[in-house]
Amino acid sequence: MFNALVVEKDEEGKTHAAVKELSLDDLPAGEVTVAVEYSTVNYKDGLCVGPGGGLVRNYPHVPGIDFAGTVEASDDDRYKPGDKVVLTGWRVGEAHWGGYSQKARVKADWLVPLPDGIDTRQAMAVGTAGFTAMLAVMALERQGIKDGPVLVTGAAGGVGSVATAILANLGYDVAGVTGRPETADYLTSLGAKQIVAREELNETTKRPLEGETWAGCVDAVGGAMLARVLGQMKYGASVAAVGLAGGAGLPATVIPFLLRGVNLLGIDSVMQPYDNRVEAWKRVAKDLPMDKLEAMIQPAVLADLPELGRGILKGQVKGRVVVDVNG
Ligand code: NDP
Repeated sequence: MFNALVVEKDEEGKTHAAVKELSLDDLPAGEVTVAVEYSTVNYKDGLCVGPGGGLVRNYPHVPGIDFAGTVEASDDDRYKPGDKVVLTGWRVGEAHWGGYSQKARVKADWLVPLPDGIDTRQAMAVGTAGFTAMLAVMALERQGIKDGPVLVTGAAGGVGSVATAILANLGYDVAGVTGRPETADYLTSLGAKQIVAREELNETTKRPLEGETWAGCVDAVGGAMLARVLGQMKYGASVAAVGLAGGAGLPATVIPFLLRGVNLLGIDSVMQPYDNRVEAWKRVAKDLPMDKLEAMIQPAVLADLPELGRGILKGQVKGRVVVDVNG
């Protein structure tokens, strides 16, 4: 028997999350059984753990969109017991039982072997948010990052914290946008050179173009802020759009694309091909300083998840929550 956070739906359609005992027979089908060590709290997890069930597709359900652990049993030649593995994406924690559990059973194709230089706890300190931040940086690099400051929006959140630390470590001047002035020291410690107040960029303007300011941008916020940032990009610069913490709408004009050749790059971490996942995890191990990663970690256990889920939806979580599922 083992413990997992199980979300159930009652007859009135209300969802309830609680830590319960399960057996291996309860797990969904898959080629690889993993003894999970750590999972994390991402924005999507907040939706799945909260009332209404968010993105959950079947009940009862074990949420947790990512996990890292050790292979316990495998019917696939690529993995053997004892291998360290990490999983992000593939609708795990939404359509297939996920990482808020001491055991998980998944398709072998969804896993990635953990590269050297990073352990299971560090891998989940990175988690889906940090993996996505790495994908965003790689996308910006492919387009070429211009000279000048690189903007990170939602900087004190999960994606933003990791993007800030990676970009600063690569030598870029990072400007972090935050709505929480009290996180300025934290962002500076991750390597941000400049802190921009959220209000400065949340105000809408009738001007489709402003001064050419940003050499690149990792955007976790979307909405009005993304629209405003597009008009402030340098000629030919790129924005890697990752999230919608500030809204799914985009009240923008085509002018930045037409007159400044701005590139808007959409980043999806869910259905990433195997080679890209391997490459991104290797880059994380190489380009993200592990001491900075430590500063982002908030430890948690399974029983903390309902409250933490509510917190992330309100934008109250700083850095990355690492869930010790055996804690
Ligand atoms: P977090 O909640 O950790 O961070 C989001 C940050 O955005 C907050 O910390 C806050 O930063 C800022 N923010 C929140 N609300 C607002 C608002 N109304 N206006 C402006 N800023 C706001 O979430 P994550 O970093 O984990 O995820 C960020 C986004 O990226 C989410 O929408 C998530 O769903 C998405 N995502 C997408 C992925 C993909 O594959 N494309 C993968 C992973 C995440 P601050 O306090 O510093 O202002």
